Amino acid sequence: MSDLRELYQEVILDHNKQPRNFHGVDPHDHEADGYNPLCGDKIHLELRLDDGGRIEDIGFNGDGCAISTASASIMTEVVKGKTVDEARSMFDRFHYLVTDESAQPDPSLGKLGVLAGVRDYPMRVKCATLAWHTLQAALENKGEISTE
Ligand code: ZN
Repeated sequence: MSDLRELYQEVILDHNKQPRNFHGVDPHDHEADGYNPLCGDKIHLELRLDDGGRIEDIGFNGDGCAISTASASIMTEVVKGKTVDEARSMFDRFHYLVTDESAQPDPSLGKLGVLAGVRDYPMRVKCATLAWHTLQAALENKGEISTE
């Protein structure tokens, strides 16, 4: 288990150091700002849907802790090319994974699984889910959300 934890740690550090899709999306048709006051994480998310309702492009910027940045980076990677419904369903499964102690590893979540460890640190769950709440706000044109 400790090897796995180290690997997870590496993936998180890598995504924090070199966040993927760390840029604006031009043009974009949805955007939102997310704020996690408990930790001070801020994220701005922009995305563009294609005619079929797929997330054609998505990017973010902001300033946050390693977990929030890595989670946003991994999220943009995994939801790109997915439909809005698919992305929502991923968030449901991801949320379950990071909040329910009895949750089993879910291979369909791919890389998102590296964040499962945050469930041992309730404060960190908000860091890990901030990007997802912001995505939801963007899709619902809510403008901004706070985790509190
Ligand atoms: Zn944080």
